[in-house]
Amino acid sequence: VFDDEKGNLILYKRDHIAFRYEIIRLLGQGSFGQVCECLDHKDNSKVAVKIIKNSKNLASQAQVEIKILKILNENDPNNEQSILHIKDSFIFRNHICIITELLGKNLYELQISKNFCSFPISLIKKFAIQILNAFKFLESLKIIHCDIKPENILLMPNERSKIKIADFGSSCLLSEKIFTYIQSRFYRAPEVLLGINYGCGIDMWSLGCVLVELANGKPLFPADCERELLQLIMEVKGFVPPDMLLQSIRKNKFFNQGEILPDKHGNIRKPLSVKFSEVVPGDYLFLDFVERCLEWEPWKRMTPEEALEHSWIKTHDTENILEKSLPSRLLRRKPFLIKKLV
Ligand code: ATP
Ligand code: MG
Ligand code: MG
Repeated sequence: VFDDEKGNLILYKRDHIAFRYEIIRLLGQGSFGQVCECLDHKDNSKVAVKIIKNSKNLASQAQVEIKILKILNENDPNNEQSILHIKDSFIFRNHICIITELLGKNLYELQISKNFCSFPISLIKKFAIQILNAFKFLESLKIIHCDIKPENILLMPNERSKIKIADFGSSCLLSEKIFTYIQSRFYRAPEVLLGINYGCGIDMWSLGCVLVELANGKPLFPADCERELLQLIMEVKGFVPPDMLLQSIRKNKFFNQGEILPDKHGNIRKPLSVKFSEVVPGDYLFLDFVERCLEWEPWKRMTPEEALEHSWIKTHDTENILEKSLPSRLLRRKPFLIKKLV
């Protein structure tokens, strides 16, 4: 028996995977398995090895992950895009293993190490530019990442402020969408939540959430459940637009004949009771930028090309004289109760 009860391969430091990759340390653990830093004895280089749990469903999803990573490599032979590069993949003791280049901390770990302080807007902009260029590249290949969040954006070792997008484990080709319910909750786009046809625009929504989170040191929509998520979104954006509601096949989960259903805490938040400017710090250009990432309708959202032309991206930070920080009383948002069900 090589597996634990969750289907993870039991790993020991200094052990060798496939007689080649010596385990140095565990880098991360997720729903899909474990990621280790390893020494590749073939050329004495360090790599990351993602060892997928021993499960049929996860294995077939990992095959998609490998397929997409290979498409990305083929279209970026010189490794110039801000996208994780795959080196190899194989099956070891019934576990799919994906060997990739070794990257550094993820942005959530970076937030932890900075005690969840706000990141400087200039740094957030550097990250945004790299992510938008990566999105442009993904869109050109008709690939949706489907899981943009701080944990999946990784710093590059020894390269200041450089990042790469990782974890293509939920990704899909636009023409081969398998799942209808995707993305991590805080970063889930309204069209996914409501069950409406989705495309690359869902990554742009997540990016908007991530940028605000880095600027605030806390998630923009930290919802415990999907009802709470929709309510948090409506709190700043107003009621779901009628055309979207009409197309929604999941609207009964959130509304009863147009009435908002309480979330799992029994709360109902009032649409439009919080101003966007109260939850987004920084200058008006940053505010405008994230508002255009966070449009309800995916077709109204900026495309990566448009976003790269936005004045917030184009403006040098020294010119941002209007920069302001968020008053601390606004940082902790209490739900606005209009009805409490016991
Ligand atoms: P999730 O639960 O988010 O779907 P996952 O199980 O699909 O996660 P990954 O996101 O690929 O797994 O990896 C988990 C963590 O391991 C990442 O958040 C990151 O911190 C770390 N990690 C993954 N790949 C690398 C890499 N190439 N270099 C360094 N760290 C990595
Ligand atoms: Mg991940
Ligand atoms: Mg994943």
